[in-house]
Amino acid sequence: MAKKNNGKVVNGSIFFTDKEEPESFSISNQFAEHLEFTLVKDRITVTKDDAYYALSLAVRDRMVRRWLRTQREYHIKDPKRVYYLSLEYLMGRLLGNALINLDYYEECRELLKKDGYNLEEIKEYEHDMGLGNGGLGRLAACYLDSMATLQLPAFGYGIRYEYGIFAQEIENGYQVEYADYWLKNGNPWDILRRSLQYRVKFYGRVEKKVYPDGTYYFDWVDTDDVLAVAYDVPVPGYKVKNVNNLRLWQAKAVSDFEFSEFNRGDYVEAVAKKNDSETISKVLYPNDTYVEGKFLRLKQQYFFVSATLQDIIRKFKINHDNWEDFPEKVCIQLNDTHPVVAIPELMRILIDQERLGWEKAWYITTRTFAYTNHTVVPEALEEWNEKIFGELLPRHLQIVYEINRRFLEDVKKNYSADEAVLEKLSIISSGPEKRVRMANLAIVGTFAVNGVAELHTHILKTRIFPDFNKIYPKKFLCVTNGITPRRWIRAANPELSKLITSKIGEEWVRDLSQLKQIENFVDDAAFRKKWREVKMHNRRLLIDYIKNENNIDVNPDSIFDVQVKRFHEYKRQLLNVLHVITLYNRIKDNPKIKMVPRTVIFGGKAAPAYYAAKMVIKLINSVADVVNNDPDVGDKLKVVFLKNYSVTLAEKIIPASDLSEQISVAGLEASGTGNMKFAANGALTIGTMDGANIEIREEVGEENIFIFGLLAEEVVELKAKGYNPRKYYESNPSLKRVIDMIASNYFNPKEPGIFNDMINGLMNVDYYCVFADYQSYIDTQDKVAQEFLNQEEWTKKSIYNVARIGKFSSDRAVSEYAKKIWNVKPVKLNNGNSNHD
Ligand SMILES: *Cc1c(COP(=O)(O)O)cnc(C)c1O
Repeated sequence: MAKKNNGKVVNGSIFFTDKEEPESFSISNQFAEHLEFTLVKDRITVTKDDAYYALSLAVRDRMVRRWLRTQREYHIKDPKRVYYLSLEYLMGRLLGNALINLDYYEECRELLKKDGYNLEEIKEYEHDMGLGNGGLGRLAACYLDSMATLQLPAFGYGIRYEYGIFAQEIENGYQVEYADYWLKNGNPWDILRRSLQYRVKFYGRVEKKVYPDGTYYFDWVDTDDVLAVAYDVPVPGYKVKNVNNLRLWQAKAVSDFEFSEFNRGDYVEAVAKKNDSETISKVLYPNDTYVEGKFLRLKQQYFFVSATLQDIIRKFKINHDNWEDFPEKVCIQLNDTHPVVAIPELMRILIDQERLGWEKAWYITTRTFAYTNHTVVPEALEEWNEKIFGELLPRHLQIVYEINRRFLEDVKKNYSADEAVLEKLSIISSGPEKRVRMANLAIVGTFAVNGVAELHTHILKTRIFPDFNKIYPKKFLCVTNGITPRRWIRAANPELSKLITSKIGEEWVRDLSQLKQIENFVDDAAFRKKWREVKMHNRRLLIDYIKNENNIDVNPDSIFDVQVKRFHEYKRQLLNVLHVITLYNRIKDNPKIKMVPRTVIFGGKAAPAYYAAKMVIKLINSVADVVNNDPDVGDKLKVVFLKNYSVTLAEKIIPASDLSEQISVAGLEASGTGNMKFAANGALTIGTMDGANIEIREEVGEENIFIFGLLAEEVVELKAKGYNPRKYYESNPSLKRVIDMIASNYFNPKEPGIFNDMINGLMNVDYYCVFADYQSYIDTQDKVAQEFLNQEEWTKKSIYNVARIGKFSSDRAVSEYAKKIWNVKPVKLNNGNSNHD
């Protein structure tokens, strides 16, 4: 065997080593080498962006051997693996997180300082990797971090969109969208796997063919093909050697394209057509909790699923030749219904290519997949028009029909033949336009279906899929969402982290339940003082940011009252605005009023085609214009809309917040994860009994959270007996005054009538019960203000929130998935160097 020698070329051949890094390794050297040799820059031409890029490459280099070793170890030990399939990953920036997880942050900062660089400043040059919309995509990113930290043999798969979530600008108070070309300056984190390419088929037709033995099979022919090429992103675990992999697919034209046109001399036409296939991975659909039945979206989904399954099966076949082992070695977690076409795709591969019979193929498929449901909002339930589905994926439509036929037959025989029940269970909806119901397909084709909080799971079982729950009572389970403490506390809030660590050590970063120990310091006045100083430090950073961005002067002693999340009617940013206007009216009625000062901060994007949500953004900015420029108001009240909410902006805002607005109408927020990030950073929650708010209350104690509003069942009852919002309007003078002001163009004298639709909607329908919850919300906000006056008590509540937030670590969530669903165990890499080559 060849002697290892640190990757140097000896006698014309390269030897690889398992050593962590070359003896001569130093981040400064590596950094300098990348500046000179990769970026070809010198002292004179180097920019801050170059510094960011070179440093990131140097940090990536530090991960490479662990990354290779992790993948090799998984290959050699061949444990059961989990594949996490998500159309979205809202990763944010990677440099700071990588340094923390490698336990190299401080050292790196010091080394850079010697070279005259400031790490904090360099970090700001990284463009967010924003390949997701909101909670669902960020959850996937948090889970990657936890899967690596827990040393699970886990693999993330996604799409490398060329354009991530759009950049939001505010022009004349309105949201305007700009393309997010995040790869503009290159991406130091992903590496192209030059030899990993798969062919993905579309369109075509199905041919029945006969084998020599007389049996037949189906062939999918005359297809239009596209290549999927792999880009890999390293996912380092926290203070462990494991570096997991996130594989993202990019579409590329097949190289042997369109020879017929080529021959006819349409060379330019043929080359131009290449672009068509490459649009598949061009752009992320910007909808959160809403489906758009666009052809290109289904194309993206199948493109993703086809490439991913080919890759999973290739890896399986390296070690196995018996398909029955597949569910013992592979678990595939489907993040919402977006990748559910994987179910008929695996069936197609097993039946048409591997020549297994239907029963065997179905047995394998239904023991491989698990599905996470993320919402009960009806407009988010994916259904594909059968014609669209059949045109793009003719063989898959046949398979879906056969799955449905066998399923309904089974139901009739063993459960119920009631036509109404069968129609609800059917994977294909009846009626003039037949549709493939992806959630139904997901439930039938998987062995586990999970909700993302207790209430959400309960609603799935009793309201959304009660008949499925009767047929498969053991299939439905709950795994409450979580967030990674590495990014959301340790990286986002270094001052709070230092304070906590000074008291209880650093183990909490890996085991968040350890935070419990800081309860011992609640009665320590000096500790509470430091706690407030940390919050004030963070607040001052945010004040500077707001001054820079919005040119608004914010009172540092005001309540930082924050609602940042996607704009959606069910999340009820509108209810928050009504409170702001109510406070404004109190000040106008009595300019000398004694009032606890507040800064109400909003941030979030609305889907570009979601008119009602975009008008709420316009209303906030209109109200802000009036309130912030009214001399009667002074620093008692400020309204701030921070544009372009993102992971990076969240990391700046959340540590500075006092009050976390989690005010969705009860029953519609599946879990929420923003709520967890705020509580983990010492903000108190004002919220409804919805999603994970309920479990946060359970953990932190009801005296440490502000709960208001209708319960989920009460919302249902209210609607059942006929909800009349006008009644609330007429009987509540304060509400009436606020609505009348908006309706009479008080905040928008130059654009009269723009809020008419909004007001009409509220007065006549108010689908999200804004009026019904108004008074309860106002009363609770008054209680918040009262309690904020007593800073010592408020600080205690803040400490209790952090101390009791342990449950909401994504490490807990991922462990539950690993035990209850995946049956996957850690693969611990030893600290030394591997013996394997
Ligand atoms: C956590 C997070 C979300 C989810 O917030 P919710 O309040 O749970 O809707 C959305 N966007 C970003 C950037 C986040 O970090």
